Amino acid sequence: MSKYRTDSLFEIEQADKTACHHIIRVAFESAADREFDYLVPDEIWPIQVGQRVEAPFGKKDKLQIGFCADITSPRPDPSTPLRSAQDDKKRKFKLKKISKVIDKEPLLDSELMELARWISSYYVCPLGQVLAAMVPGAVKKAAGVKTQRCVYLAINSRDIEEIIKQLRGKKQKQIVNFLQGKGAFNKETALESQELLEAAGCTNEPIKKLAEKKIIKITEKTILKSLPAIPKGMAIKTEGRIILNEDQQKALTHFKDQIETGQFGATLLHGVTDSGKTELYIRAIELVLKKGRGAIVLLPEIALTTQTIQRFIARFEKIAVMHSGLTASQRNSQWQKIKAGQASVVIGARSAIFAPLPKPGLIVVDEEHEPSYKQDTAPRYHGRDVAIKRAQLANAHCILGSATPSLETLLNCKSKKYYSLVHLPRRVMDLPMPEMKLVDLRQPPLLSSDRKTRGQKGINLISEPLAERLKEVLAKKEQAILLLNRRGYSNFVFCPSCKHTLRCRNCDVTLTFHKSEAFDSDQMRTVTGKHLRHGFAICHYCLSQTLVPEKCPVCGKAMAMIGLGSQRLQEELARKFPEARTSRVDSDSMRGKDYYRILRDFSDGRINILAGTQMLAKGLHFPNVTLVGIISADTSLYLPDFRANERTFQLISQVAGRAGRSAKKGMVFVQTFLPDQPAIQFALKGDFDGFVKEELKHRKACNLPPFWRLAAIVMRDRNFDKIEAACKKMREKIDQITEHDGLDMVVRGPMPAVISRIQRFHRMQIIIQAPHAETIQKLFTGLRAAGPVRPKVKVAIDIDPVNLL
Ligand code: ADP
Ligand code: ZN
Repeated sequence: MSKYRTDSLFEIEQADKTACHHIIRVAFESAADREFDYLVPDEIWPIQVGQRVEAPFGKKDKLQIGFCADITSPRPDPSTPLRSAQDDKKRKFKLKKISKVIDKEPLLDSELMELARWISSYYVCPLGQVLAAMVPGAVKKAAGVKTQRCVYLAINSRDIEEIIKQLRGKKQKQIVNFLQGKGAFNKETALESQELLEAAGCTNEPIKKLAEKKIIKITEKTILKSLPAIPKGMAIKTEGRIILNEDQQKALTHFKDQIETGQFGATLLHGVTDSGKTELYIRAIELVLKKGRGAIVLLPEIALTTQTIQRFIARFEKIAVMHSGLTASQRNSQWQKIKAGQASVVIGARSAIFAPLPKPGLIVVDEEHEPSYKQDTAPRYHGRDVAIKRAQLANAHCILGSATPSLETLLNCKSKKYYSLVHLPRRVMDLPMPEMKLVDLRQPPLLSSDRKTRGQKGINLISEPLAERLKEVLAKKEQAILLLNRRGYSNFVFCPSCKHTLRCRNCDVTLTFHKSEAFDSDQMRTVTGKHLRHGFAICHYCLSQTLVPEKCPVCGKAMAMIGLGSQRLQEELARKFPEARTSRVDSDSMRGKDYYRILRDFSDGRINILAGTQMLAKGLHFPNVTLVGIISADTSLYLPDFRANERTFQLISQVAGRAGRSAKKGMVFVQTFLPDQPAIQFALKGDFDGFVKEELKHRKACNLPPFWRLAAIVMRDRNFDKIEAACKKMREKIDQITEHDGLDMVVRGPMPAVISRIQRFHRMQIIIQAPHAETIQKLFTGLRAAGPVRPKVKVAIDIDPVNLL
């Protein structure tokens, strides 16, 4: 047991004679996975939790910025746990002093601090790093904040006449008169000195003199740039007050009851696309606003740029927006606006869950199944799960909306008391679903005859039927969207002669091909025969690996692998439709402004064909789009990830909901190499329940989420031997903890990660499967206590990963 030694502080104070009556605990962004105690010199006290400070750190006492995470008084409650007796000893000799306080006020309130601690613990990330991630960079840099020199009278108004009389300088008199006339008697009413100089027609000199005589005071005012203009472009038609239909009415009654309780709860709003979910979010928000509380709405980043956000803006006055399309100063001003209580509705991407909204009463997560809610750098949090936690801390209600809810949320609805489920089974406007056409890509002429190099063939990404339809659409001056799933790793192995595909012996699912080196699928080529030699096929359910045969085991002909990518698609479009104006958007190449511009051009008809990744499948409403082509519905199927089927189902359903949103009937072409795949079949039929039932069977059999929990430890380094040694050490540590604590779990690896090399870094992973989240927590608590692995390599810990690449 460690015991606090009250004398230790006293000794420090005597030693360097600076009075320090307080100790705070600081979480540094860049430091080790723990917090450090510092003395606070009395002249900079008080400091509050949530403020940033600057303090000397490390052997060289380099100044670093960290958050004040806790305050320990000099004679703390003896029960305050200190780290260890050893720490206590260090404290006596080594406790350093805070050198400066950075923020005037805490950036995070106690609720957000608690949320940070939860994220730090659950997602295994140093607290300092979590805190740093919770506050936008633009806020920390005070982007767009200008300070203005301002001046006010520092004397009593009664004395003014007298003072003016005594003044010699004419300009000085003029200035005092002017300030008096404007009533500038304190900081708040201070006048910009520029304005003053212009009015008095003088230089700085008289102001300086007056300040010296203490007649006026000079101060600084911070001025924030005005609020962002929300990019216009796609005007929304102003809707009259919508009358809710029966399903919506029922749902709203449920939300009302939930909000009335003032207690935490979560509702899954499962409604097909266009069933009126967004309208319901708006109504529920109106209810919490009446209760004097605020709301946060999370949307996937890509959906934010669209009409959805404008609907919220049209409906709520005190609204703040946070997404990557904003400039730094806009982002800062939005954040400040929320902090100052000038916004009661916050709408934004994943990180808007950290908005400093004082009393959220409702948190909405739209498209809750979206994998983009998971952050792929530390802290690797899931926006939806953090939303639920924040709602819990705030006693708020959380609405998770989706047309294709994640299996995790569906299971939670069954197993957790505080979840409820509300259905919206019908489209509001009785729009017909678009016509869905399946195109079997294995049918010739998939492989075009122009052989470019040995062992490679060009392939057609646009099938004959799709090309035909595109021609018609263009002729009618209508528009088309072509979707090619995410770049890369869309590699498919099959026998072009007999159409045989490789399947897993254990799981009866199609295997995915992997080259031992990262394969650049933007080269878009078909690889045959001996080129396959260097790869293996992996089952994304049981992770078993099989060498890829050069020859088809059924007919003996050469096997082929096909990679698909968006650049290749654009080339093919240019070749086949030279007249058409096409544009490409994909998330890698595009941010903010460019994206808006292309959408606007498309909306205005300056673009005929828009090609891109699935970001195009979300939230867009273009009445003139009558054709959507999914270039390969399988690309996600071939992701070596157990959620690939789920993603495929989601994508097709999403697209089906997008097309044909006007009187002109829409058509969707779903191209696939695997027309019999259950995910594709269920999606074409719109059979969500059927899909879920089938998918859960596989998940259960393989101890995968949502039944079991997963964690991935990905380690990387340029040096292979080093990483191998580090992985071995890591595994040993895991085994020790598992044995010592009697943890019930399955540990796989170390094994090469699916993408086994990125930018010359080798990547290895260890995957942990456990029946309960607590087991995984116990393991990582143990690992954290054990300290970093040696040899030192980069380690990324991913709790509840959304994919295992
Ligand atoms: P979702 O979010 O489920 O896709 P929305 O809330 O966006 O659905 O609704 C789709 C469209 O239908 C929107 O234009 C919306 O204004 C409109 N809408 C919603 N509810 C109704 C209703 N009860 N009656 C008529 N139109 C509605
Ligand atoms: Zn398998």
